Amino acid sequence: ILEVNGMTKAFDGKCVLDGIHLAVHPGEVISIIGPSGSGKTTLIRMINGLEQMDKGEVFLSGRSFIHAGQPDYALPWRTQITKIGMVFQGFNLFPHKSVIDNLMLAPRLHFNEDPRTLRQHCLAMLDKVGMLEHAYKYPHQLSGGQQQRVAIARTLVMKPSIILFDEPTSALDPERVAEVLDVIARLAQEGITMLIVTHEMKFAFSVSDRVVFMENGHIAVDAPPAEIRQMTGSRIHAFVNDIAM
Ligand code: ATP
Repeated sequence: ILEVNGMTKAFDGKCVLDGIHLAVHPGEVISIIGPSGSGKTTLIRMINGLEQMDKGEVFLSGRSFIHAGQPDYALPWRTQITKIGMVFQGFNLFPHKSVIDNLMLAPRLHFNEDPRTLRQHCLAMLDKVGMLEHAYKYPHQLSGGQQQRVAIARTLVMKPSIILFDEPTSALDPERVAEVLDVIARLAQEGITMLIVTHEMKFAFSVSDRVVFMENGHIAVDAPPAEIRQMTGSRIHAFVNDIAM
């Protein structure tokens, strides 16, 4: 469903991504792990055009989605952008809008749907993440975990083909992490395609079809969790065990 081809990026002359190739198939859940600064966040930000790549191309459902040198206003890109959902570390909800209005905003701009049907759909997505009873609250009245669950619902409302998560739990209090991971795990069971940058190793190994280990702008390992568990003595093994401790 998603293909990253030869993605390369340098910041201030320093190579951060060095010709990344990655394919995500429908229904797959892929976790991206690796040391700080290895390029994980840059990779997923470039997949949906939040950062410009120096070289390479991203294909979505077999069609070119974005490539190096493509201007932001290119029309094919704009019409396809709703197909990629993104959940950020810092939730990024609109503070002056209620939960339900946060959810309604994007579909109102992009889809020509009857407002009552749209509202029902948004409420159903809030229910999915266990936030229905908070529909009319404002972000500041919610905990970080609840805000992140709203941010996930806001992405689901757009019916994306794939959701990208950028360290979705790293801004949360430790006691709030599980509720967000549970929601993501449930989406994984439903067959939603996801690419997740995370430092939560237990989670990554339990929900993912493949774990991608990045090091110095390269993909060092791209394999199913069971295979990685067999790679004793490897750098990925050392990394995972270090973090998990
Ligand atoms: P972490 O786990 O700490 O979030 P990461 O693997 O996600 O790390 P990135 O955030 O992708 O790593 O950053 C990779 C490298 O690129 C780092 O050295 C970072 O300092 C650098 N970098 C990222 N964004 C920019 C930017 N906008 N300008 C300059 N350098 C940047």
